[in-house]
Amino acid sequence: MELLYEGKAKRLWTTEDPNTLRMEFKNDATAFNGEKKAQFEEKGRLNNAISTLIYGMLEKEGVPTHFVREIDETNVEVRKLDILMVEVIVRNFAAGSFCKRTGVEEGRKFSKPIVEFSIKSDELGDPLVNDAYITELGLATEEDLAFFRESALKVNDLLIKFFAECGLQLVDFKLEYGRLCEDPSVIVLADEISPDGCRLWDLKTGEKMDKDRFRRDLGNVMEAYQEVLERVKKASQA
Ligand code: ADP
Ligand code: UDP
Repeated sequence: MELLYEGKAKRLWTTEDPNTLRMEFKNDATAFNGEKKAQFEEKGRLNNAISTLIYGMLEKEGVPTHFVREIDETNVEVRKLDILMVEVIVRNFAAGSFCKRTGVEEGRKFSKPIVEFSIKSDELGDPLVNDAYITELGLATEEDLAFFRESALKVNDLLIKFFAECGLQLVDFKLEYGRLCEDPSVIVLADEISPDGCRLWDLKTGEKMDKDRFRRDLGNVMEAYQEVLERVKKASQA
């Protein structure tokens, strides 16, 4: 099958069905917009397993996603989408770029979740933008943005509850959405949900269990992802 796209963490392949793709999770890790790079044996397998279980939970809870089925340890079949070039970020606690921009100390709990948008562009470094930028640039419509906000807050509620069952605090995360190739009037959740795109802190110890271990050279990166997988597996079976 033909390689359609190679990104920093995944590859997209065509399948026999023109409306589905094979999404392959790689072992590559990048941070700071691709400036910092490494390879972790098992990363593809761990993120695929974690993301597959989370998409299964979301589908069960009525969130439409691109997920079709797990093919093997590092590959899933997904519905082919036209990705909307907007990253939807939800924050429950202050961390990362929020702290950098505002000077607020890491870990402050917000009175309610913050939803923000950035342009999905490696060249521009995913700049934070408001609704008017997005509609003016034609990246999404006002209706799309209202849908993103509603959907992202629903996903946040579901993920907070699910990760709490795993003994994990959901600090923040990034979502992507796309239009179904076979029916562009339908927008569904795309990409992956894994410790690469979520900040997760151990509820008891506060220990970071996500890509910040790589970003900040905290060590034991895959050990943390493995632990997340074990807890996600248990919570999925409960
Ligand atoms: P990046 O492109 O940022 O380097 P990845 O390596 O994770 O990121 O590449 C995966 C790419 O696939 C992303 O650009 C993402 O928007 C895109 N994508 C995710 N799900 C789908 C889908 N169902 N259909 C088409 N493209 C998708
Ligand atoms: N995030 C992501 N991809 C991006 C930008 C952010 O997955 O291109 C995730 C990130 O892992 C974190 C959340 O979105 O869980 C918020 O990220 P932030 O804006 O704080 O940026 P960071 O400092 O992590 O780059």
